[in-house]
Amino acid sequence: MSQSKPRSPSTPHRQSQGGKDFRKRVQRDKQKHDSPVARDSAPPRAGDAAAMPGIILKTGREKSLLRRHPWLFSGAVECIDGAPASGDTLPVRDAAGNFLAWAAYSAASQITARVWSWNEADVIDKAFFRNRIIRALAARRTLGLDRDSTGMRLIHGESDGLPGLIVDQYDNVLVMQLGSAGPEKWRDTLADLLQELCAPVCIYERSDSDGREREGLPVRNGIVRGALPDNVEVTEHGIRFAVDVAAGQKTGFYLDQRDNRALTGTLAADRDVLNCFCYTGGFSLYALRGGAKSVLSIDSSQEALQLARRNAELNGLDSSKTEWQCTDVFDALRKLRDQNRKFDLIVLDPPKFAPTAAFAEKAARAYKDINLLGFKLLRPGGLLFTYSCSGGISDDLFQKIIAGAALDADVDAQIVKKLHAAPDHPVLLSFPEGAYLKGLVLRVAG
Ligand code: SAH
Repeated sequence: MSQSKPRSPSTPHRQSQGGKDFRKRVQRDKQKHDSPVARDSAPPRAGDAAAMPGIILKTGREKSLLRRHPWLFSGAVECIDGAPASGDTLPVRDAAGNFLAWAAYSAASQITARVWSWNEADVIDKAFFRNRIIRALAARRTLGLDRDSTGMRLIHGESDGLPGLIVDQYDNVLVMQLGSAGPEKWRDTLADLLQELCAPVCIYERSDSDGREREGLPVRNGIVRGALPDNVEVTEHGIRFAVDVAAGQKTGFYLDQRDNRALTGTLAADRDVLNCFCYTGGFSLYALRGGAKSVLSIDSSQEALQLARRNAELNGLDSSKTEWQCTDVFDALRKLRDQNRKFDLIVLDPPKFAPTAAFAEKAARAYKDINLLGFKLLRPGGLLFTYSCSGGISDDLFQKIIAGAALDADVDAQIVKKLHAAPDHPVLLSFPEGAYLKGLVLRVAG
């Protein structure tokens, strides 16, 4: 597939009838942009790039695309030919008219287009998507990722060459999330292909993430193919989890933490464990199975805690060792500190405090707050598993925040391991934004 170099010098910029005046600068105006629902237009044919309306970049603004970063920001765009609809596949050309990529146009977004292919000879059609999906499935099979779990991320957006598309597998159910205009346009095609290639009993759509609004797309939540079983369940490293596909967070479960949960389980024996932001019990269940002395789990979602209790029962884990608290973690940590409670192992896996770098400062305060309190609640020699899934917080910044928290808590701590998302969430080298999840295992001095 798309193995050729990103530019094709053989593709001169189309000499338009009357030059640039002919082009209509497209207003990124929410009122004006076309309905995001798929239009049944024919896909562009290979080699048609020079004859098609496209996106022309400002002089010198092609650098990130030449490095194969798949996002084209609006600031780099000189003009857009014609009046394309959101989701249309357009050729992107540099200021001299050289072909750079085929990309999905997004009228409402700051990200004007997301790249499907760097190869001018590619045709963005059903066969293209079939190949991309087959490639993603094969990568996971080759890595043996289905050995440890019946739940897995099958398609991880940009990193699998399918910007804006997330597909998670929960046993024989697939959940698909369309985050931008490109996959939105190909929704039916993608569902058909997933049905054909994976044969699930149900494809459920959870296109209800915050990002959809920024993309000018409507929220969608419902069955796309088949029928949703009453109980959806995954078995992960031998632990069973019920998954609420329709109303749970994200697509129902935090698959990205699978291997980090397993690691916690191996270090929990005979320890008093505190699991903050426990959701449906992930880290808690591993800790219980790993022989923890006690596990206190905290989350502000009543629904998540109900499922967490059910999950503990499903696995026959000792309920006398567990305590579930439905409350705000920031308050709970202060209360535990005031009660002089101590733990040997603490997990802090908060929600995304900083979706983008613009939120980094406020998020940094929140991370520091919970980590400072976490350090204070640990016994000497205790372990802190601390995470950030914020795209707006880099690895370096996260480590600095944690260092500041340890300093203010007056503890010496060592990093004993750095953690990331499980390998079914790969990170494309040219798309470092894919590495959103970062974790540190810290040991405080004994
Ligand atoms: N560790 C979990 C995933 C955590 S997701 C797992 O392995 O499955 C983050 C969780 O934080 C969600 O369940 C959400 O309900 C909870 N949450 C968000 N803000 C919170 C707050 N202020 N206090 C307590 N819980 C919170």
